Amino acid sequence: MKILVINAGSSSLKYQLIDMANEHVIAKGNCERIGVDGLITHKAGDVSLQYEVPFPTHKEAFMEVVKALTSGEGKVIDDVKEITAVGHRILHGSEIYKVSTLVDEKVISTIEELSELGPLHNPPQAAAMRACRSVFGEDTPMVAVFDTSFHQTMPPKAYMYGLPYEYYEKYSIRKYGFHGTSHRYVSGHYLEMRGIPAEGTRIVVCHLGNGSSITAVKDGKCYDTTMGFTPLDGLLMGTRSGAVDPSVVTYIMNKEGKTPDEMSDLMNKKSGLLGVSGLSSDARDVVSAAKEGNARAQLTNDMLRYQIKKYIGSYAAAMGGLDAVLFTGGIGENSWELRDEVCAEMEFLGLKLDPNECDRNTGDDHKISAADSKVEVWVIPTNEELMIAKDTVEIISR
Ligand code: ADP
Repeated sequence: MKILVINAGSSSLKYQLIDMANEHVIAKGNCERIGVDGLITHKAGDVSLQYEVPFPTHKEAFMEVVKALTSGEGKVIDDVKEITAVGHRILHGSEIYKVSTLVDEKVISTIEELSELGPLHNPPQAAAMRACRSVFGEDTPMVAVFDTSFHQTMPPKAYMYGLPYEYYEKYSIRKYGFHGTSHRYVSGHYLEMRGIPAEGTRIVVCHLGNGSSITAVKDGKCYDTTMGFTPLDGLLMGTRSGAVDPSVVTYIMNKEGKTPDEMSDLMNKKSGLLGVSGLSSDARDVVSAAKEGNARAQLTNDMLRYQIKKYIGSYAAAMGGLDAVLFTGGIGENSWELRDEVCAEMEFLGLKLDPNECDRNTGDDHKISAADSKVEVWVIPTNEELMIAKDTVEIISR
């Protein structure tokens, strides 16, 4: 069974065609610069192609994906009919979608209606669904997998803000959390791999990439998470500030005469690793500048590591203990220095790294905690696409 996974962003459309018999990725690629000009990168086995095509909207990008899969050097199928179903990553499902859902017209229009909560992602994701339907027709099922779904199990005490209650009622203002598919995959994969029943487990998943979030997973379900109403909350990220005192926002706006959009731009695109270091949003650049003695790069590293440590500790307290810490995402999977510093002096929690294992960056699942550590620490590469494909198979098989 072949499943196509579509992940549309504000100006991009990533895809993977997965053979579910062996979970092998048959082809994958990315359409970039949608709405600007257009560039597609397509990989199929040893073939790797990159060429320019105009992408005025996500529809033209999706059409090019179909063309790349069915013709030319990177062709992997004769006809789109070979694709059993399509799984779509959707940013925001609000409180409506607590689990992945079979798509019909009502679901697409609801995703569009939720655009106020996910203005950059929900509209292109709905557009990609419509483009997909126009090519595949009604006979090929589509499934929507939401970034917010996994976090829908949070208790109200974790997701409510201390604002007048009417804002929750009027505008649905609450913590939603994001990266849910990654947190679900990594925590679920860990429990499955270790053969541990979910009941009674207390896990912290650190998804650290360009965007970063940490989730407390209790009994296999999300209990709390660092991202909030939007992905801006929580940790310092590539260009996002993470949590700040909300008064700072109005203070800067008043001082510099900034509009709400300008302030949002500052906090989403000019802050984080980039804003503090003044150098780059890429963690590798910041790490190497710090090694060369750049003080602000060192400060940036210190801030990120301190924040991660603080969230792990607070979630251990919230869950009444800790059984495992799992690292994933570009930084979590690759930066052993960060993992080392985050996990330093955590023996009071029963967490101790294995000095021989902690600096391994193998690209696969591996345990980095010491044999006598009460808390297991693992590096688990995330695989959101596979999770989306598995959900798709599960839902269409019902
Ligand atoms: P996204 O959130 O866009 O999916 P990724 O999960 O790919 O991003 O993570 C990208 C981040 O991972 C970048 O900041 C990059 O510098 C960082 N990264 C990748 N490899 C390393 C490494 N060896 N050491 C430190 N950071 C790394």
